[in-house]
Amino acid sequence: MNIQMVDLKGQYLKIKEEVDAEISKVIENTAFINGPKVKEFAQNLADYLNVKHVIPCANGTDALQIALMSLDLNPGDEVIVPAFTYVATAEVIGLLGLTPVLVDVEADTFNIKIDELETAITGKTKVIVPVHLFGQCANMEDIMLFADKHNLFVIEDNAQAIGADYTFSDGRVQKSGTIGTIGCTSFFPSKNLGCYGDGGAIFTNDDELGQKIRMIANHGQNKKYFHKFIGVNSRLDTIQAAILDVKLKHLDGYGKARFDAAMYYSENLKDIEGVTVPVLSEFSSHVFHQYTIIVENGKRDELQNFLNEKEIPANIYYPLPLNEQEAFKNISKVKGNLKNTQILCNSVLSLPIHTELTKEQQNLIINTIKQFFS
Ligand SMILES: *Cc1c(COP(=O)(O)O)cnc(C)c1O
Repeated sequence: MNIQMVDLKGQYLKIKEEVDAEISKVIENTAFINGPKVKEFAQNLADYLNVKHVIPCANGTDALQIALMSLDLNPGDEVIVPAFTYVATAEVIGLLGLTPVLVDVEADTFNIKIDELETAITGKTKVIVPVHLFGQCANMEDIMLFADKHNLFVIEDNAQAIGADYTFSDGRVQKSGTIGTIGCTSFFPSKNLGCYGDGGAIFTNDDELGQKIRMIANHGQNKKYFHKFIGVNSRLDTIQAAILDVKLKHLDGYGKARFDAAMYYSENLKDIEGVTVPVLSEFSSHVFHQYTIIVENGKRDELQNFLNEKEIPANIYYPLPLNEQEAFKNISKVKGNLKNTQILCNSVLSLPIHTELTKEQQNLIINTIKQFFS
């Protein structure tokens, strides 16, 4: 049995005809840069998310950088970000001469700890960047209340949760990435909505910001050769947009397949002593970009080796908190303690999860984990 963390080939084969035809069309038209498919896909994604502006760009890291560039920040301004995330979230903050202020995450949802916001805020704080880690939204209602009270921008790092629904206490439902000032996503191949190369997008409901972001992503111009801002060159290839437009129609189905696989794991792993299965929050659906368990008593590395030896992949996202990364030592600040982050880096283990995972494969993985603990 060949088990992979993600099965991109199996997923492709199911939509091969349509994808191949769309790729051929782009090549026939040679509209490789900013072809009509880019606009079409952006509009379809905007409709799906129910957001006013979707600005495609080259990758998720660029999306975060361009979002920050649009907010008129100054060097030394502080951006609150969880210490337990992928490096890109905080990297762009440092790159722009801003200060990442690292805070702890909740022990159960792995998302930014709301209580820490009050500890982290200073006169220089301008932005909060919550990350919807592993496919489930951070507590956006409380984050937005806090941000409004203190006049802060919110940039959602939605690279792992596209398609997730957030439910407010009054019953209102909004798609992840459309709640903050700006939302960012990645179309990296293994993401829930992935293309066949690099890609990303930025979302906002603010017309003025939408236009500015579009300009920044295009050398700061909206009229060719007239540059209002210092920008970047960050585009989504037409071929990638064509592929994404096909895959967007399957996104909800993909999310459901991932969720069902996750529930099957949880049902079968929840009673193992020393293992904690993912928690479902009351305010967000979960699209399971990763299925991540907590392995107690220092057994995580041993379990990972045991699985890997039996050709079952299992990865650690993330082994080292941002505050301990050499690149961040001199440019970031830590606020409060990072106790949960510390514990999670030593105990999380992500199991294979994707749209093509079979019960047989899951049974093998489950039984191997049970064997390890028996
Ligand atoms: C993947 C990812 C990114 C970066 O996306 P790229 O397209 O690889 O640049 C940023 N943040 C998070 C949380 C991610 O998972």
